[in-house]
Amino acid sequence: IPTMSQALTTTDLQGALPLVARGKVRDLYEIDDKTLLFVATDRISAYDVIMENGIPNKGVLLTLCTRTWFNALKEAVPSLRTHFITLDLPPQIPESLRPVLQNRSMQVRKLRILPIEAIVRGYITGSAWNEYKKSGTVHGIKVAPGLQESQAFPDGPIYTPSTKAEQGEHDENIHPDQAAAILGEYASTVESLAVQLYKVAHEYALKRGVIIADTKFEFGVDEETNEVVLADEVLTPDSSRFWPKDSYAVGRGQSSFDKQFLRDWLVAEGLKGKDGVRMTEEIQQKTAEKYKEAWEKITGGK
Ligand code: ATP
Ligand code: MG
Repeated sequence: IPTMSQALTTTDLQGALPLVARGKVRDLYEIDDKTLLFVATDRISAYDVIMENGIPNKGVLLTLCTRTWFNALKEAVPSLRTHFITLDLPPQIPESLRPVLQNRSMQVRKLRILPIEAIVRGYITGSAWNEYKKSGTVHGIKVAPGLQESQAFPDGPIYTPSTKAEQGEHDENIHPDQAAAILGEYASTVESLAVQLYKVAHEYALKRGVIIADTKFEFGVDEETNEVVLADEVLTPDSSRFWPKDSYAVGRGQSSFDKQFLRDWLVAEGLKGKDGVRMTEEIQQKTAEKYKEAWEKITGGK
C-alpha cells in the first residue's frame, strides 16, 4: 500500500510512447494513429487548480470505476459504443513501468472529441441551484417553480450542457440550443444518449445506496463510421455528484462522496484558487476515503 507521499502526480514513460496531452488528471500517450493510452494519475483539482500532491491510487479507482460503468451501461444499452479497448498495457511498455501503470491505464480509440460537456442533472444543486434562485431557470431552461435545494426535477432529468473551456478557462453553462448550434448533426444523438445513460446509471446506483445527482459525459466521433462514441471517464466521483441515499433530504445541501472535503478546507485556509497548494496528510487521507467509499458502494468491490 503506497504512503501518502507516493501519489503518482505525473507519468514518465521514458520514451516508450509519445505523450500527446496532459489534462488536469490524465496523461495521454499515442500507441498508434488509432489508439491512445489513457492514463489516470493521482492528481486532483479543485476550483480548476491542480494540487501539488495527489491522492494515492485515485487514478486506479477512476479507471476501474469507468471500466465498471462501461460494462453496466453496455449491458443496459447494447447499441452503445464506447472508446474502451482494454485494460491490458500495450507491448511497448517496459516491464519496469508496468506495475505503476497497471489498472490506471486503458487503451482507448482515439476520437475527435465533441467540444461540449454533456451534463445531465437529476437534482437541483450547485450552479444550477444558484441560477434557479435568481431567475427560475437552469442553463436558461424554464423549470417548475417552487423547487427546493437538492430536489429531483419533477419532470425527470434535464440535459444541461456546458462549453469545454481551454486550459485555464472556466466551462460555461449553456442552453441546449447553444449546444445544438455547436454540435450540428450530432446534437440530438448526444442529448438523447446522455439522458438515457444518466437514467440507467441513476437506477443502478440507487439500488446500491447512491444517488447520482448529476454527471458529465464526453462524446467523440469515430471518423471512420461517423458514429457518436462515449469517451473519457464516466460516472466517477470527479465527473459526478454522488450523494449517500441514507442521509438525503431536500431543502439543504448534501454531503457527498466527492471533493467537498478538499474544497471546504481550501476555502477555510484561504487557499481557494491558489497555485501550488500542498494538501496536508489529513486532507489527503480523508479525500482518499471518500473516493474509496464511492467506489465500494457502486461496485460492491474492495
Ligand atoms: P481538459 O484537459 O480537456 O481541460 P480535463 O482536465 O478534464 O480536460 P483529463 O480528464 O485530465 O482532462 O484528460 C482527459 C482528456 O482526454 C480530455 O481533454 C478529454 O476530452 C480527452 N479524451 C477523452 N477520451 C478521448 C479519446 N477517446 N480520444 C481523444 N481524447 C480523449
Ligand atoms: Mg476530465
